[in-house]
Amino acid sequence: MKLLVLDLDGTLWDHEDASRLTLPYEFHGDYLVDSTGQVLHIFPGVREFLKWAGGRFVLSIASWNVEERVRPILEGFDLWHYVRFPKIENHPNKADMIRRTVKELESAGYCVDGIIYVDDRTLHVDDVKRALPETRFIHMWVDAKSFEELRELLERVG
Ligand SMILES: [Mg+2]
Repeated sequence: MKLLVLDLDGTLWDHEDASRLTLPYEFHGDYLVDSTGQVLHIFPGVREFLKWAGGRFVLSIASWNVEERVRPILEGFDLWHYVRFPKIENHPNKADMIRRTVKELESAGYCVDGIIYVDDRTLHVDDVKRALPETRFIHMWVDAKSFEELRELLERVG
């Protein structure tokens, strides 16, 4: 199975740094309000996309964020159960995050026969490709302008 690794800030939701949110969060459908009044919306189509992709790929996360503040967002939107060995860590080394996810998946008996990495920024791509040359990168909002387009793209390449 192919591994599909997702970024969070600016990719799954509109907030650029979800680690700046303050618990507790109030959830309202597809957005939340934190305890200081900051708002975060998940992008249109994210729920439907993850439901579809979860049946076709092994899903995981590589996110430069503080897990204590960001995992509750995914749990509150009921999206956490889609991902395997997600990494939400407060450092920019996504190559290391993805490499460890692959190792953990293989230890758990998964056969990872390809990696697709989706991010709204190209900052980490060179490092990821150096560490894991078989990775295919999809630049969110450039290669795919919506989650419907991302699904169409993955149907062709995945
Ligand atoms: Mg991002």
